[in-house]
Amino acid sequence: MERFAAIIVAAGRGARSGRDGPKQWEPLLGKRVIDWSVQAFLTHPRLEQLVVVTDVAPKQAALPDAVVVVAGGETRSASVRAGLQALAVPDDMHVLIHDAARPGLSHKVIDALIEALGAADGAAPALAVSDALKDTRGGTLATVPRDTLRRVQTPQAFRKRSIEAALAGEHSYVDDLEAVEASGAHVQLVPGDPALHKITYPEDFDLVARLLSPPLSTPRVGKGFDVHGFEPGDHVTLCGVQIPHSAKLQGHSDADAAWHALTDAILGAVALGDIGDHFPPSDPKWKGADSAIFLKEAQQLAAARGFALTSCDITIICEAPKVKPHREAMRQRTADLLGLPLDTVSVKATTTEGLGFTGRREGIAAEAVAVLAPMP
Ligand code: MG
Repeated sequence: MERFAAIIVAAGRGARSGRDGPKQWEPLLGKRVIDWSVQAFLTHPRLEQLVVVTDVAPKQAALPDAVVVVAGGETRSASVRAGLQALAVPDDMHVLIHDAARPGLSHKVIDALIEALGAADGAAPALAVSDALKDTRGGTLATVPRDTLRRVQTPQAFRKRSIEAALAGEHSYVDDLEAVEASGAHVQLVPGDPALHKITYPEDFDLVARLLSPPLSTPRVGKGFDVHGFEPGDHVTLCGVQIPHSAKLQGHSDADAAWHALTDAILGAVALGDIGDHFPPSDPKWKGADSAIFLKEAQQLAAARGFALTSCDITIICEAPKVKPHREAMRQRTADLLGLPLDTVSVKATTTEGLGFTGRREGIAAEAVAVLAPMP
């Protein structure tokens, strides 16, 4: 695929956006609106040069060094002319001209535009119109046939010499495609992207933020860690399974370090604090409590947030008792309690080679990772 140059027009004053300054410099999900488009172009492997047209001073614009910053003109077309003049690329190179107010630019759209230019002088992304359209002229509502209408977005792509020729003179166009069409050239539409929604009105910021947020299907991951020391006794409880041993684990509840770690992992995945926040050891209610209560409650709290536990991995760290003979029973008990398929519950064990407090047989440590998926 051929290389291309890009111009981002960011000279608009954004009078309708309801914000203090022009909308392209406003924050959106952790960066400025314009940074989204700058990043989309700069990360494309075939980009030759990027020009940003803006009335903001280059130093104030604080764009990456690779970006050429030039001042805009009185009209949109004049700003595009200024951007074209700043390009140091061959006359037959593709040029993509983009509005900074459309931050949802993807490499997929860029690639489709460049491909379309193989057989056309101009190309732009466009979407069909799904709403009914009414013409309100004369105080009556006349339905406008919409089947042949398209909503045209940016970037719009051209051979550099075609757009330069089309924009020669002083005329100002609604968009660059109009200028090239007016010159009689062949233009082609490629599938548009709803994420390319233009920020025009105040409510557009929220809409675009939703469109550009990571998909809701993103899983959540949480991690937990717990330690309990030994005291005189005859068994320990790990993952709800009683294992005969020469000591027991010390704790307010049944001291099931493995399930405590898993409880913390689940709470961590949905950022709901830790086991101590929900079941304070100071509360006599939890004295000698079965840790199954904590684990089930964490699972239910996550579910109330819209996330289902889908898999977990527990590691128990101790020299003794030997965990391996009880491992399958621990997996089964955990899977049964949480209503999970057995193959999504992992229990592992390790020693610390005689080192540290677990090596000195002073207690047992446990780690857990939990993966939660958004519920449909
Ligand atoms: Mg604990």
